[in-house]
Amino acid sequence: MERSRRRFICDAAGLVACVGTGATSVFSQTSKSKTRLILLGTGGGPRPRTNSYASSQVIIVDDHAYVIDCGDGVATQLTRARVPLATINNIFITHQHSDHNADYGNLMLLAWSAGLKTRVDTWGPPPLARMTRLFFEMNVVDIRIRTVDEGRGPLIPLVHAHEIVSGTTLFKNDHVTVRSALVDHGMLKPALAYRFDTRDRSIVISGDTVKSQSLIDLASGADVLVHEAMYLPGIESLLARVPNAKSLKQHLLRSHTTAEDAGKVAKAAGVKTLVLSHFVPADDPEISDSMWLDAARKNFDGEIIIGKDLMEI
Ligand SMILES: [Zn+2]
Ligand SMILES: [Zn+2]
Repeated sequence: MERSRRRFICDAAGLVACVGTGATSVFSQTSKSKTRLILLGTGGGPRPRTNSYASSQVIIVDDHAYVIDCGDGVATQLTRARVPLATINNIFITHQHSDHNADYGNLMLLAWSAGLKTRVDTWGPPPLARMTRLFFEMNVVDIRIRTVDEGRGPLIPLVHAHEIVSGTTLFKNDHVTVRSALVDHGMLKPALAYRFDTRDRSIVISGDTVKSQSLIDLASGADVLVHEAMYLPGIESLLARVPNAKSLKQHLLRSHTTAEDAGKVAKAAGVKTLVLSHFVPADDPEISDSMWLDAARKNFDGEIIIGKDLMEI
């Protein structure tokens, strides 16, 4: 993939080098031509940060938006990426950690207020169906008032939640085939990775996982693998700043993948491009892009991209 195909829409600090500098959406300009992948949030962990949002991505195929994970700020990041919220028709949750699901309900509610009128299917581990129902109950006042006062169509019947507990083919339509695989995220089970095969690209999102054979199988031959990444030397300084250092270290080591091992996964799967994301530690000024790159490069000769919020790949 040549560099010119990758574009920063904005950087984390503000608007720079935007794809569309005018007020109009750039969404339809590339529809029907190329499957787009935009990283919405690339930081690992739920604590809000100044320079990276929590984990989420969007894949756009033929004017349909497939959102993978809904970390804090996902609706805002989609808007900054000029993706109309009303075009969301599938939402995938990899696992029920708050850096991946905190804005799951908010995304649907805010998309509805932004004009969503069409069906949305949501996919993820239990208790996704209950989460969906309870979220709408929690927001019954807003939904009822906007329906009556603003003349909006009903929201709740648009949303269909599907709980996934295994690796399987979720669906196939005219635009994409979507498959899941179970990955190993320590105590949090089930945790899923997703693969999207469109007519021109194959994209895999790892979710959170240790080095995983099932992920290698799912990602076999893919064009792009977005893989979580942890930088071990940086973990020690992170641990020095928190009160729960011992248990946090155990969690990290049994639940996540080092950048070196992400390179091994990419090589074993034979992917063309490895995108590092879900960085742990996130926003650490002591860890440069070249340090992340060098770590993954030890084990992978293909293209490696250090993910940034709002980077298009
Ligand atoms: Zn996470
Ligand atoms: Zn997690």
